[in-house]
Amino acid sequence: MQPDPLVLVVGTLVSAFLAAIVLLFQARGFPPDIRGLREWGMGCALIFVAALFNGLRGMLPDFVAIVLGSLAIEAGIAMVYIGLLRFNDRAIPTRLLVAVMLLNLLSLVYFTHFEYSFRARVIIVPGTTALLFGLCLIAVLKGRPGHKLRFGDGFATLFFFAETLISLARVALAIWVEPPPADLLTATLSQQLYQADLSGYSLGTLLMAVGLILMANDRLKEALQYLAGHDTLTGAFARRAFIDLAEREQARGRRSGQPMVLLMVDLDHFKTVNDSHGHQVGDLVLQRFAGIAQACLRRQDIFGRYGGEEFMVMLPDTSRDTALMVAERICATVAKTPVIIEGQDSSIRITVSIGVAVGDYKTGLDRLIGLADEAMYRAKAAGRNRVEYAADAPVNDQAGIPAATG
Ligand code: GH3
Ligand code: MG
Ligand code: MG
Repeated sequence: MQPDPLVLVVGTLVSAFLAAIVLLFQARGFPPDIRGLREWGMGCALIFVAALFNGLRGMLPDFVAIVLGSLAIEAGIAMVYIGLLRFNDRAIPTRLLVAVMLLNLLSLVYFTHFEYSFRARVIIVPGTTALLFGLCLIAVLKGRPGHKLRFGDGFATLFFFAETLISLARVALAIWVEPPPADLLTATLSQQLYQADLSGYSLGTLLMAVGLILMANDRLKEALQYLAGHDTLTGAFARRAFIDLAEREQARGRRSGQPMVLLMVDLDHFKTVNDSHGHQVGDLVLQRFAGIAQACLRRQDIFGRYGGEEFMVMLPDTSRDTALMVAERICATVAKTPVIIEGQDSSIRITVSIGVAVGDYKTGLDRLIGLADEAMYRAKAAGRNRVEYAADAPVNDQAGIPAATG
C-alpha cells in the first residue's frame, strides 16, 4: 500500500510543529547553563518550514519548494547539531557548516534551474542529511568533557544512527541500484524509500525531540542532584551530603580495618574580614580558601562545608602522620597565599586553625567530629594558624596511630 503523500506531509508538519513548540518552551524554563535547547527548537521549526515548502510543490515556484525546501531540512539538522555541541560544551565548526550549506544551495540551484536532474538531487539531499546526522551521532557519543553518557544519550544515539543509515541507503540506492525515475510520482524503489523517509520525518522529528528532551532532563536531574549535595558558594559538599559520604566511608573502613581521619578547619578571625571588607569580599575569601584546600587534597578525600567558615575533610585510608602532613600543608598554603581582591590595591591574608582527629573502626562519626572540634579549639587557644591533634584510644599501632590522646 502506498502511503498518501498528503498524510505524510501533514504528519511531518504536525510533529515538527509540536517538537519545536515543546523544545522552545523547555528552553525558556531551563537553567541558562543548560544550553542548546533553543537551537534544537529552532532546528525543528526549520524542519517544519521544509515540510511546508515541500508539501506545496507545484503550487510554489521550484526555487522555494525544491531548493529552499531541501535547504531548510539541512539547516534544521545543522541547527540540531549546533544545539548538541552547545549542550555538550563543544566548539562549533562554523566554517564547515557554512561550507556545507553553501555547497548544498549551489548544487540544488544548479540541478533544479540549470541542468534539471532529479537523480542528482536524490543523491545530494540525503547525502548531506547523512553527513549532518552522522555529525549529530558523534556529538552525542562524545558527550560533555568529563561526564558519562546517560539514558537520553543512548536513545538519541540510536535515533541518529538509524537516520544516518537510512540516508546513506538512499544515496547508495540512487547511485548504484536504480535508474533515474521519470517523474516524482513513479513508484520506484528510491521513491518508496523517499516516502518511507518522509514518514520517517513525521515520526522521526518527534522521536528526535523525545531523545533531546530526555537528554535535557538527564542534565537537569544531574544539576539538581549537584545543587542538593553541594554548597553553591564554595563547591564543597553540603553538610548533609558530607555526613552521608563520611558514614559510607566509615562503614567501608570498618570492613577493611583502616583508620578514620577527620579534619575540622576553621578560618581565623573571619568576622574581621567581613567587618573590614564587607560580606561579598568575605564570600570571595571563602571561595579562595576552598580552592586552596581542595588543591591540597586527593580525589578520594571528602571536603565539606560544616557551616559558616568551618569546613571538614574526611581522609580515607590515611595514617595519622599523613593526616598531620596534609593538615600542615593546608595551614601553610593558606597562610602564604594572599587573597587578591579585584579593584583593591591591598590583598587579604588569612589563616586557619585545624583540628585533626584519628579514630579506629569502633569510633563513631559523631565522636570523631567531637574530637576534631576539640582539637581545633585547642589550636585556636594556642594562638591560631596551627594544627592540633586528637586520637580515640586505643588504636592500631600498625596503621601508625598511637594510643595517646593528643
Ligand atoms: P575565630 O578565629 O575564633 O574563628 O574567629 P571568627 O571571627 O572566625 O569566628 P566567629 O565565629 O566570631 O565569626 C565567624 C564569622 O563568619 C561570622 C559570620 O558572619 C561569618 N560567616 C559565616 N558564614 C559566612 C558566609 O557564608 N559568608 C561570609 N561572608 N561570612 C560568613
Ligand atoms: Mg573562625
Ligand atoms: Mg567558626
